[in-house]
Parts: sequence; structure tokens; C-alpha cells
Amino acid sequence: MKDQPPRTTPSRYPKRAHHDAATIYPILDEALFCTMSFVWEGRVRSIPQSIVRVGDAVYFHASVGSHFFRSLAQLDEVCITVMLADDIVVAKTAFEHSINYRSVVVWGKPEVIEDHDEKYAAFKELTEKMVPGSWDYLIPMTDKEMAKTLAIKVPLTEASAKIRQGPPSPHESEREVWTGLIPIKPLRGAAVAGPGAEGIELPLHLRGRRVE
Ligand SMILES: Cc1cc2nc3c(=O)[nH]c(=O)nc-3n(C[C@H](O)[C@H](O)[C@H](O)COP(=O)(O)OP(=O)(O)OC[C@H]3O[C@@H](n4cnc5c(N)ncnc54)[C@H](O)[C@@H]3O)c2cc1C
Repeated sequence: MKDQPPRTTPSRYPKRAHHDAATIYPILDEALFCTMSFVWEGRVRSIPQSIVRVGDAVYFHASVGSHFFRSLAQLDEVCITVMLADDIVVAKTAFEHSINYRSVVVWGKPEVIEDHDEKYAAFKELTEKMVPGSWDYLIPMTDKEMAKTLAIKVPLTEASAKIRQGPPSPHESEREVWTGLIPIKPLRGAAVAGPGAEGIELPLHLRGRRVE
């Protein structure tokens, strides 16, 4: 990700920006979801999606009947954003309130994955990301299911991360006003059995996992 073009440099707080894989990839790996934006027939579209990174690309899946996904295959460029919000930053003034966050913006050309093995691997990685340890426990994926699904990848050649962490900025007023952080980290709750699964022992991989 060297020689970043200027469009991946924020005009506000550029020192908070990073362009290295060592910063960007862990954020992409922690985020379960993203927003994908693009222009289609002259109009801006923005769609929430599940996302998984495998190597130097991010992968997406949808039904072959999805208008959204079929549009993607014809585009020269999409913009993908993920954000992990860590804390609400409570400052002395409303003006200085902020968010501690880690976010990524990716620009790239979507490519339809035709290769069976790459598509299969992307399914596996996404499933393992959503429910770690589950792939080998599940009923194996069939060729029919594969055929019903379109998989798209966007290479990670042009991307930026931006990170804000830490307490509120100091304020010159000596007036006593409480300041600090309100953590907002997401948690995975205890698994709830679906219809027909009430009597089935909860598999090991579903016990006590949290989103860190
Ligand atoms: C949870 C959350 C809440 C936020 N709340 C606010 C808010 O209320 N007000 C506010 O002004 N800003 C907020 N931000 C920051 C916001 O995302 C932008 O960084 C900010 O608006 C400055 O944009 P800019 O004009 O510098 O970006 P631009 O100059 O338009 O951006 C140029 C390029 O910089 C990179 N870039 C910019 N922002 C980010 C980012 N967040 N992550 C990764 N790459 C980035 C992208 O590659 C982008 O194409 C928030 C961010 C997060 C994650």
C-alpha cells in the first residue's frame, strides 16, 4: 500500500491517518460489517454488507438475484467503509465531544470471483469470522448453494485507516465539568437456541465467545 494517492489522506487530522497493512488489516478483520457505496445510473447507492478479508482483498457475498450485486460486477469503483466505535468522548464542552474510533476506507474495483476454490475459501472465511470454529461443525456447503451465490472481491490496493483514541482534549476553562469516556464496545451475548435446537447440546465453539 505504498505511494498512496492524495485521496486517501484526510484533510482533517491527517496525523490520525494510516496507510499500512499492519494498521488497516486488523480493523477490517474485527469489523463484521461494512457499508459499500457506489454510483449506479447517476445515483449514489450505499448498502450495508458483511465483509471478510482474505489476504490482500476483501470479499462479499449475495444471492445471484441481487440487483445490488449484479450492479457491482459492472462498476469501475466502489468505496467501502468500516468503523469500530470504542468510546464516546465526553468533554467539557459540547463542541469538543468526540468518538474514539478505528475506521477504514477502501477504494477499489469489484471483481466477480469465478474460481471455485477461491469462492469456497471466501465462504469459509466469512463463516468462520461470523461464528468462529463453526465451519467443520456445519453441514458442508453444496455446489448448488455455491451456484446460487455471487461472490465479489475488492483488492486492497488503495485504503486508509483513521484512528482516534484517548481522553478528551484539555480545555482552558477551570470550571469543574466531568469529562471522560463512555465505552461502547459490542458484546456477543449467550447463544439462544432456534426452533428445533432446544434439546441439542450447545457446541463448544458457541460457548462464551465475546466480540473483543
Ligand atoms: C464513529 C465515527 C464518528 C465520527 N464522527 C465525526 C463527526 O461527528 N464529525 C466529523 O467531522 N468527523 C467525524 N468522524 C471522522 C470522519 O470519518 C472524517 O474523518 C472527518 O469528517 C474528516 O474528514 P475529511 O474532510 O478530513 O476527509 P476527506 O478529506 O474527505 O477524506 C479524504 C480521504 O481520507 C481518508 N479518510 C477520511 N476519514 C477517514 C476515516 N474516518 N477513516 C479512514 N479513512 C478516512 C479516506 O481515504 C478519504 O477518502 C467520525 C468517524 C467515525 C469513525
